[in-house]
Amino acid sequence: MSFRATRKAATIHQLCLDPDGHEHCYHFQMHWAPLILCAPFWLGQPAITIDLAHGTDRERQTKALLEQVLASYDLSKYTFTRRVVIEERAVNHAFPVLTLNVRFARSADELLSSYIHEQLHWHLRARGADQQEAIAELRRMYPGAPVGLPEGADTAVSTYGHLVDCYLEIQADRRLIGAERTNAVIGDKAHYTWIYKTVLQDEPMIAAVVRGHHLEDQ
Ligand SMILES: [Zn+2]
Repeated sequence: MSFRATRKAATIHQLCLDPDGHEHCYHFQMHWAPLILCAPFWLGQPAITIDLAHGTDRERQTKALLEQVLASYDLSKYTFTRRVVIEERAVNHAFPVLTLNVRFARSADELLSSYIHEQLHWHLRARGADQQEAIAELRRMYPGAPVGLPEGADTAVSTYGHLVDCYLEIQADRRLIGAERTNAVIGDKAHYTWIYKTVLQDEPMIAAVVRGHHLEDQ
């Protein structure tokens, strides 16, 4: 968080200094800095509604951090549903409502990655036939892929489907936070370990399947 705050302060400074660098301008702009920083993204992408399931402290913290994340990045191309619920003790899931637990109440990069992961499930659901064909191809490529946590997902179909979703998540993370922070986020994943490992090991092959079935997010 301190790195984020420092980086944000630097951005504010750049944004706020007029050509002559007058200090009074800096102080005035600091007051309005959150609005100025958010404006380009808020103008470009529809608002996300974030509800709390129980209103606990950790849910409130996670909501505040998610709002900060949403204001910090242009996520318009990763926005497929506009309603989010924060629910302590829930397992993150996409349907029927995108729901995130409070595990990453203090970790912006991890929260961003998890949020995009669930958003991408909505993107893939809208491409059902293509997704099924990709899953069939991945099943042929990786017969006997693990089912069940921590290595795989709940079902074989879900494990193969997650090769696509997690591949797209990694691509999005790299675009938004860079390769180094993406490696840290993905390396910290305690679930779907075989899935993430396989995506990183065989990335060109998985990329070809994703492209071949028109499942890119752009
Ligand atoms: Zn998932």
